[in-house]
Amino acid sequence: MKYKPENSEPADAATRRAVRPVICYPTDNLPLPNVDIYAEARHHLKQVDEIIVEPRDAETFHVPAGHFCRIVSVEGPQVGDLNLWNAADINERFFSGKTRALNGTHVSTGDRLWSNLPYMRPMATITHDTLDWYGWDEYGGGVHDVIGTRCDPYTNRLLNGGEYHYCCHSNLSRALATEKQIAVTDAEAHVHDVLNVFMCTGFTQDTHQYFMKASPVRPGDFLEIFAEIDLLGGLSTCPGGDCSTIHSSDTAKCYPLKVEVYRPTQGLPVDWQPAAKNPYSRNHGFDE
Ligand SMILES: [Zn+2]
Repeated sequence: MKYKPENSEPADAATRRAVRPVICYPTDNLPLPNVDIYAEARHHLKQVDEIIVEPRDAETFHVPAGHFCRIVSVEGPQVGDLNLWNAADINERFFSGKTRALNGTHVSTGDRLWSNLPYMRPMATITHDTLDWYGWDEYGGGVHDVIGTRCDPYTNRLLNGGEYHYCCHSNLSRALATEKQIAVTDAEAHVHDVLNVFMCTGFTQDTHQYFMKASPVRPGDFLEIFAEIDLLGGLSTCPGGDCSTIHSSDTAKCYPLKVEVYRPTQGLPVDWQPAAKNPYSRNHGFDE
């Protein structure tokens, strides 16, 4: 609690607090990726594309279903804000909230990145993470979170005043507007809560506020995903740089990030196929 309570505890407060928690979304019944398929395929790759994202900017890129994509640290520690869309229909996009509810606050190898309702299917599977050694630090921090949203000029205007145009939200909006040849104000409606690649974050112990700290990423580190459907990606190099101090300004030291796209050269086993849309009927109780 951030505020002093106005109400006194009931007599059974301790009993109520002692109730054991249960996992909201047990994943025992979730169709799991066949990690052996990815592990075999990722050893036989041919690079087919490479994109450099300059500091305080964003780029879009395409990853066909069945291809791998790496987000690579180059030159210095830098956080990347990742958006994913269905390449054929950008109304389907990465669903940070449900990915968090299913996988936890931070993601790594074996976790899947889910799309929004009503599509709700795995868009990508994380197949390698050179920072998987980090785990949880003494502050409760971890790497690659799905809890932050993305830095944006609206929140900055409220908290700090003034106009800053190179927050991740704006960078991704410009990149999508360029990709789709649409107005930036139309593009920003499709920009969504991100996967914070390489960002080291958590919640404080006392107030449970979102915190960030210097990313442990170093040049050569990468996060690798496998595209379960045809993907349009957007990656912003956050103006916070390694996110150790400040964002939403030109203050922090920033570096580029590299996106590499790979095609498996030995093909995929026959039992892999692009993920199907969620089979829920969409009746919502009307047709019963
Ligand atoms: Zn940012």
